[in-house]
Amino acid sequence: MGLAVSIEVLQSQRSNSQSMKLNDDGEDEIILNVECHFAQAKIGNCIFSLGDCVYVQGNEGKKDVGRIIEFFKTTDGENYFRVQWFYRVEDTVIKEVGSFHDKRRLFYSTVVNDNLIDCIISKVNVTQISPRVGLKVKSIASSDFYYDMEYCIDYSTFRTLVTVFPDNSLRIHSFSSSNLIEMESALQTAKSLGNSPSCDTYNAEFSLLDLYCGCGGMSTGLCLGAKLSSVNLVTKWALDSDKSACESLKLNHPETHVRNEAAEDFLELLKEWEKLCRQYEVDNVERTNRSRSETSRVPKHNDETEFEVSRIIDICYGDPNKTGKRGVNFRVRWKGYGSSDDTWEPIGGLSNCKESIRDFVKNGKKLKILPLPGDADVICGGPPCQGISGYNRFRNVDSPLDDEKNRQIIVFMDIVNLLKPKYVLMENVADILRFDKASLGRYALSRLVQMTYQARLGIIAAGCYGLPQFRLRVFLWGAHPSENLPQFPRPTHDVIIRYWPPPEFERNVVAYDEDQPRELEKALLLQDAISDLPAVKHNETSEEMSFKNPPETDFQRYIRSTQYEMVGSALDDTKKKENLLYDHRSYPLHEDDYARVCQIPKRKGANFRDLPGVVVGRDNVARRDLTEKQSVLPSGKPLVPDYAFTFEQGKSKRPFARLWWDETVATVLTFPSCHNQVVLHPEQDRILTLRECARLQGFPDYYRFCGTVRERYCQVGNAVAIPVARALGYALGLAVNKSNGNEPLLTLPQNFSHSNYFQFTEILPPP
Ligand code: SAH
Repeated sequence: MGLAVSIEVLQSQRSNSQSMKLNDDGEDEIILNVECHFAQAKIGNCIFSLGDCVYVQGNEGKKDVGRIIEFFKTTDGENYFRVQWFYRVEDTVIKEVGSFHDKRRLFYSTVVNDNLIDCIISKVNVTQISPRVGLKVKSIASSDFYYDMEYCIDYSTFRTLVTVFPDNSLRIHSFSSSNLIEMESALQTAKSLGNSPSCDTYNAEFSLLDLYCGCGGMSTGLCLGAKLSSVNLVTKWALDSDKSACESLKLNHPETHVRNEAAEDFLELLKEWEKLCRQYEVDNVERTNRSRSETSRVPKHNDETEFEVSRIIDICYGDPNKTGKRGVNFRVRWKGYGSSDDTWEPIGGLSNCKESIRDFVKNGKKLKILPLPGDADVICGGPPCQGISGYNRFRNVDSPLDDEKNRQIIVFMDIVNLLKPKYVLMENVADILRFDKASLGRYALSRLVQMTYQARLGIIAAGCYGLPQFRLRVFLWGAHPSENLPQFPRPTHDVIIRYWPPPEFERNVVAYDEDQPRELEKALLLQDAISDLPAVKHNETSEEMSFKNPPETDFQRYIRSTQYEMVGSALDDTKKKENLLYDHRSYPLHEDDYARVCQIPKRKGANFRDLPGVVVGRDNVARRDLTEKQSVLPSGKPLVPDYAFTFEQGKSKRPFARLWWDETVATVLTFPSCHNQVVLHPEQDRILTLRECARLQGFPDYYRFCGTVRERYCQVGNAVAIPVARALGYALGLAVNKSNGNEPLLTLPQNFSHSNYFQFTEILPPP
């Protein structure tokens, strides 16, 4: 260190031992045997005062940065200082994925500890600046370091610092925890004075862009929940590369602009759309008149002769005609032809159709067919990471971001960066926190923080919100620095989270602390969710039928609510109670499998091991009983197929296993195969129907699905469980209204999980 340390007491203070609470970790050293405090210390020739920021000797020659908040001497005569630490980005959970961050950026923290005074190296300038999206680093004063956000390891939170007394320059420590409490009470006072804006926002539409929308589980739940905290969140745009998923979304949300394209093309399209809007912004009458004389005659795709353009009806980015060239294409309606003759034409081929393009762009901008920067208030989405899923054996372990299948996290964040929404919600499988030392999870956080967004990451089990399904997922909130960062909703149901993430993310699990008082409802069981549904055969083909029986549980009563009852307003004629049951049909079993399933006993725990000709050894391995003649099916195939014995080395009890009424499902997957998952109905010889799976995911019964039966299962299995998204939507609404708390978690109101809009708001629906 090379600095001769001599400490002079320059001004003594009243002794005040243990004035600070222990830091968050509780493991860093806090000294208790304090004799007296000082306001300044002279080390070498330099005088250090309380409030000064300093370099402190760290591990392995690293220079840490902190602010001196106390000087004191212990009863055994040693001189200490108490330091409140700043984090560099690589000290946070982001770690090395922060290489593209500004090296001068620090993060404020409330973590403090005590160190011997000779660890102080020198003074350093640290300036607080207000966080601004898109702020160029060069424009920041040339102090050594700056900070604009607070970092806290609980839920990996990066948050705008809340200044209680912004212009009180004397209060260097105005961000200490005690002042946060002051601020909370200031907020409470404001609320009690009626300054809470909660109702004002209701009518104003808050627009949502759902990326990788699937059939819309995530956005549907978010909108339902936001309504319950008086925010009129509306899915304005949705995007998915899967056609049937887009059709499902459109069927249930006719008001949404649904785009069936790849997200990477959508990103390029958004950039081009912005350029086009700028290019055609000025409604220049002269130019318009001049170009009215355009012939608008152009050669049509795959045709040498010229046709006249009637109008442009759509736009896309990509290569719809498979020519090998990517770019902006317009969908053209030709004069004298109908929609079946529409073609995609590259923008370059339409150079003498400026007027048609202008009309399309102007109209499209007015109708907001695509979001421009600032248009989307919220962006949500679950960028698929098939390259890391635990169910995927072929994964690129070393650098998952290079894996094409995981690239969507980058695309998702690029779209956020372009559109700059107020809020972001990203969902993913829990494996993003396990795989490759959590590099994908860190990357997502890193991008948000680099964009100066606030961020908070939570691990949520769907069962905790009133479903008979466990389903663990990661959710990442992002919020523009001027907005409130949404909280995570505490569980409403008593489900034990058995899975535990890597130790570094243990403090991200959304749950009650062990000793925290709570009032939880009992965990839901399969029978609570589906006992009221009529019996159907394995090869049932009806798309709709009557319910036959009344609902038996709160869940069933709630899930049967009409759209009008759920949402609190009617889009069309959904006010009338339709009471039809849709999609209560399953993927038909193969003849052999059907014959096998019919022989599985109808009792708890039954599976292929209960079929004749199977013996189970002491090693819990199922083998063929070679002492008996093998049973065969009419097709000549063995009753018990070979794969049942080889799956998980014969140890599994999942092949041809029945669920039981008092059980919960681990995770609804994209296809319920009875060969390796527990998906047989307890008392009927079939796998769970689409509707049963949809209920396990919390989709309201009015929600319908498009595509083949297989595609529909896939949409349901891919979805974010509606009750989770709904609880998150409620939390989002509170943040929008600035009526959320400062802590990372919130407690949901009673009966939240099974109250429809009118029950929740306790207003009667109009007659
Ligand atoms: N959030 C949805 C489920 C999303 S599942 C819900 O809650 O219902 C992931 C979706 O990403 C799938 O529907 C899949 O079709 C879509 N997808 C995969 N790759 C894509 C890409 N490159 N661009 C757009 N969508 C893609």
